[in-house]
Amino acid sequence: MSSLSVAMKVAVIGSGISGAVCASTLARNGVSVTIFESGRGPGGRMSQRREIGEDGKELMFDHGAPFFSVSNSDAMALVHEWESRGLVSLWKQAFGSFDCASNKFLGVQEGDANKYVGVPGMNSISKALCHESGVQSMFGTGIAKLEWLEEELPWLLKDSKGEYLGRFDGVVASDKNIGSPRFTQLTGLPPPLDLNLVPELATKLQHIPVLPCFSLMLAFKEPLSLIPAKGLSFKNSQILSWAHCDSTKPGRPTDSERWILHSTPDYANSVIAKTGLQKLSNETLHKISEEMFKEFLCSGLVSSLPFFMKAHRWGSAFPAKSIAVEERCLWDRNRNLAICGDFCVSPNVEGAILSGLAAASKLLQTSSSL
Ligand SMILES: Cc1cc2nc3c(=O)[nH]c(=O)nc-3n(C[C@H](O)[C@H](O)[C@H](O)COP(=O)(O)OP(=O)(O)OC[C@H]3O[C@@H](n4cnc5c(N)ncnc54)[C@H](O)[C@@H]3O)c2cc1C
Repeated sequence: MSSLSVAMKVAVIGSGISGAVCASTLARNGVSVTIFESGRGPGGRMSQRREIGEDGKELMFDHGAPFFSVSNSDAMALVHEWESRGLVSLWKQAFGSFDCASNKFLGVQEGDANKYVGVPGMNSISKALCHESGVQSMFGTGIAKLEWLEEELPWLLKDSKGEYLGRFDGVVASDKNIGSPRFTQLTGLPPPLDLNLVPELATKLQHIPVLPCFSLMLAFKEPLSLIPAKGLSFKNSQILSWAHCDSTKPGRPTDSERWILHSTPDYANSVIAKTGLQKLSNETLHKISEEMFKEFLCSGLVSSLPFFMKAHRWGSAFPAKSIAVEERCLWDRNRNLAICGDFCVSPNVEGAILSGLAAASKLLQTSSSL
């Protein structure tokens, strides 16, 4: 590594698993990295939600990705490293499939050796990577403008108030809306990246279709003992696609039994068609909670009522298209700009990890040729 490459400054937009893996890989290779995350904490769709029950006690929920699997050897090597650091663990519980038409289980399989969870929450990996040596993390800081100046440290970043956030040699963006009109739909602001700057990437970035999902967080005083599995996929339900028992994951408190239900994309789309993408009122969220819970009750699997119930909307839970399966990220060498995330490779944690690694590799090639 040359002394020049040590001085390379890179901004990473987003602290989901792709951005966090990219930032950590860059920092380990001597790059100075700043992560900008619009959310209050790290993890993106691998976040952990903290709620307070009526008794004042804390309730934690993995309301995004419940677990992940890996098959690629590069991703596997990272997961094994995280496992040795105590950041992830295997979740060895029985999983099943439930048919809502016949109200019967179609099958239950014993836990396998490839279902990983973050410990003590799904966000533990991103949290650790965001605080590694050489990585500075700014939470609650959304990037609203990426300006290109024909000078040293050509990228200038600003937030939604137009505040200056810094100058960088390179940028990695893990936001699929960075150059898309959907950013305007969500924020009312123009997209941060002017696609005229990166004409070769423009077509791919203009519109990436997504599937939405609602998560329903539930806490019960007593275990739901009629359910023979801790993760369930639902067949023949208009409303529910998945349920899992969060409190059976390693490292979670067991003073209550916490379940999370996921809606089908069709159900989520039908709600969004009526409400749009703006913030949902408590009344609407309550109605969604009731509809999802009623469907769970109809299965005959629920033996008691929850003491806590709250819905969360994931407007872009899963990308419906992968835009860079071969390259694993988009890259503009003239601008030192990489775009990474699950939407590049595959709509899951492994795809996001591989994309973050690919983006880091592109920037490291640049830094070594400086
Ligand atoms: C309900 C649900 C269930 C899932 N189930 C599974 C599963 O079982 N297995 C599996 O492998 N995967 C699952 N996934 C998918 C998995 O969570 C994602 O594939 C993965 O977490 C994506 O990581 P990412 O880094 O690409 O994106 P994200 O996690 O979305 O990270 C992007 C980050 O960028 C931030 N950001 C965006 N724009 C800006 C901006 N302008 N400025 C600053 N920050 C910004 C966001 O706040 C976010 O934190 C699930 C997802 C959901 C929502």
